[in-house]
Amino acid sequence: MLKALNSNGQEILAYNKSKQELNVIRQHPHYCPECQQKVVLKAGQVVIPHFAHIKRVQCSHQGESQTHLEGKIKLYNWCIKQGLYAKLEHIIPSIDQRVDVLVKLGGKWAAIEFQCSPISTTDLLDRTLGLASRNVYPFWIFGPKYLGDHKYDLYWNTTLRSAVMYHQNTNQHQLFFFDPKTNRMTVATHLFNAKGKAVSSLKHLPLNSLTWHMLFEPVQIQKSYYLQKWIKEKRNFRIGPTRYLSKYDEPFMKQLYLLGLHPQNLPSCVYLPVQNSYRLLLPDYVWQSQIILYLNQIKVTQTVLIDHLLRLVKPYFGNTVTSIYPGRSMHPLIEYLSLLCQLGYLKKHSASKYEKIRGFTFYQSLDRALEGDKELLHKLFKFL
Ligand SMILES: [Zn+2]
Repeated sequence: MLKALNSNGQEILAYNKSKQELNVIRQHPHYCPECQQKVVLKAGQVVIPHFAHIKRVQCSHQGESQTHLEGKIKLYNWCIKQGLYAKLEHIIPSIDQRVDVLVKLGGKWAAIEFQCSPISTTDLLDRTLGLASRNVYPFWIFGPKYLGDHKYDLYWNTTLRSAVMYHQNTNQHQLFFFDPKTNRMTVATHLFNAKGKAVSSLKHLPLNSLTWHMLFEPVQIQKSYYLQKWIKEKRNFRIGPTRYLSKYDEPFMKQLYLLGLHPQNLPSCVYLPVQNSYRLLLPDYVWQSQIILYLNQIKVTQTVLIDHLLRLVKPYFGNTVTSIYPGRSMHPLIEYLSLLCQLGYLKKHSASKYEKIRGFTFYQSLDRALEGDKELLHKLFKFL
């Protein structure tokens, strides 16, 4: 912890003190602001001066990494530099929670939570709801381990998926990362759900020249980049998981097998990039295939009722990640149907009614399928 209490109950910070001042601190007793147990000063050549419990105790205020300590200080100073009122390691007693940085933004309180260690979605949700109950807006920024050293792809887990923030003004989904070593904030946007990862836009911004406002600025989608990414993603899907089938792939492959099909036969409009499916645990091609297999059975000009399609995919939408933020209200299915409309397979008559206006091509060879995918994706990315 960066902050401790002295015998008079005053808050003492160590990280910004000189060597002499640290020697003075060392000579006096200090206590943990959370559990009131005695703590000691830890300071040396490499460590950021901080406090630690003497004994291993049941207190959430311990075992922090240097990255976490350093990140909190930097994010706190970043707020101060912008002229914002901020408090480092602020405890909210009524909910028994300590926030990394409490900051006042336009008359409202926000909590910057710099999450470096693994956290379960349940804990993430509990902390978020706790803060929200005190009218504090939680703002999660994830540490470097969450981002990994991937320059482009985001390998997301359920924690990251549940923390995707949606902004109505910009119609943008976002995730935030900070690396204190490089002093760089990374904003991930345009998060398209792919297998085990998000094909996303990662914008790296130096903290020194960054303001709060800039974090939420709309980001233009780089179409050519996404196009190439998605062509590759479709290819991987076509070749199919031959070994190590996931629990979602196994019944799917079996279903196709019973129909005399393989992923390489499926029409190109199976597995299209959809943004609103980030909460679904199963791959998008599984539920999208159900829609296409159904639409394939009906005649061109026949009416398609949205209620029927919703019932069809309902079993596949059961396993979802709980989102900690209010999301975009559009159902992934509706997003998918609008893509099928743009591609000329469906025509929308009303919110509940579509019409099939074109048949689907099932491929006989992998080469033809890959060609078809390229063609369709080129068409699709003109619309995005
Ligand atoms: Zn403690």
